[in-house]
Amino acid sequence: MDETHNPKLRSWVESANAPASEFPIQNLPFGVFRPRGTQEPPRGGVAIGDQILDLAALGLKTGPSLNGLAAAGRKAWKALRKQLSRALSDPKQRRHLQRHLLPTKRAELLLPVAIGDYSDFYAGIHHATNLGRMFRPDCPLLPNYAWVPIGYHGRASSIVVGGTPVVRPNGQTKAPEAPAPTFGPSRRLDFELELGIVIGPGNALGKPVPIRRALDHVFGVVLLNDWSARDIQTWEYQPLGPFLAKSFATTVSPWIVTLEALEPFRCAAFERAANQPAPLDYLCDAADQRAGGVAIELEMHLRSAAMRARNLPPARLTRSSFRHSYWTVAQIVTHQASNGCNLRPGDLLGSGTLSGTTPESVGSMIELTQGGKNPIVLPGGESRTFLEDGDEVIQRGRCAREGCVTIGFGAATGRIASAPGLGTA
Ligand code: MN
Repeated sequence: MDETHNPKLRSWVESANAPASEFPIQNLPFGVFRPRGTQEPPRGGVAIGDQILDLAALGLKTGPSLNGLAAAGRKAWKALRKQLSRALSDPKQRRHLQRHLLPTKRAELLLPVAIGDYSDFYAGIHHATNLGRMFRPDCPLLPNYAWVPIGYHGRASSIVVGGTPVVRPNGQTKAPEAPAPTFGPSRRLDFELELGIVIGPGNALGKPVPIRRALDHVFGVVLLNDWSARDIQTWEYQPLGPFLAKSFATTVSPWIVTLEALEPFRCAAFERAANQPAPLDYLCDAADQRAGGVAIELEMHLRSAAMRARNLPPARLTRSSFRHSYWTVAQIVTHQASNGCNLRPGDLLGSGTLSGTTPESVGSMIELTQGGKNPIVLPGGESRTFLEDGDEVIQRGRCAREGCVTIGFGAATGRIASAPGLGTA
């Protein structure tokens, strides 16, 4: 850690110093924005309190995405973080920089990076166990789970920034007793509470990433909601895994929280049970085992159309943590590249749903309602098994530790829009 993590540091942007601010000067996450209601070219910025500082203020030309900054690597990120930290704490720089600030509420936030490739892992062991139990009561976790980071390749084209509506997908579904499937709107639309890893410098094709170097390839992390149509998934997933049940939309938060900002919140890797094997050598590094985890608290909130009409605030459905990830960020990156597959700046790796061990900490509706059997009741009296049209799902995240300034992730929000017509005319 360095001067940028000093908990005593204050910014001349007063809103950044409020105890509840998600973006104090110790955070400094990167995003892409433009003034709302304009067609100005999108550009890179850093969140500070309730403002965005245009990176052009420091002479940095980013263009409409941060892939160039992601590719620049740890040395460059550290230098920029120091420069930003000094600029935003030194009152003498206020006069020069103030005209490069825009209130966040007047900004349109866009996807921070152009995402070339997206994979989604399955590292939340309690989620994997809960879902496995619904399908295979005798053997919830298949034997490979403890050894190999499970994942699938998703679609990058349908990843959207928080605030973008999520259109309910149509698809094939089949009730267990029905003789044939039908095509229509999903009736079991769900969210998945995840973390997204944003890749920095890539690796060349055929050159794996050793675990000791894995974090040099990580620019930062975002909140990630892997929307899932459970009824489509149930019918299509065997034998090749998720396909159209997942690829209709994935929501990420607009701000990339850097690994530098997360440094004070590092913790030990997931503690394995006595019957779980040690990672194979290529996934095992002493420093990673000791401090490769990150204590990130994650929450999902829901606000229905009826709740909005009655001015009721969003209701928290669940509260979990990235600590429930069976694999560390470094292990996920190293495994993804272990066959020689090349990662490129801006690629996105999802963690998988991060459920805790209690009923209040599970990361999806299918777990909250035990497969749709036990509806949850919302403030105002409505009940839910899965998501309804008009429901707004709000993901939040934060890191807090005694002696450190709390940092936040902002929000990743999506409101469900009704399915398009079936186009039979
Ligand atoms: Mn997922």
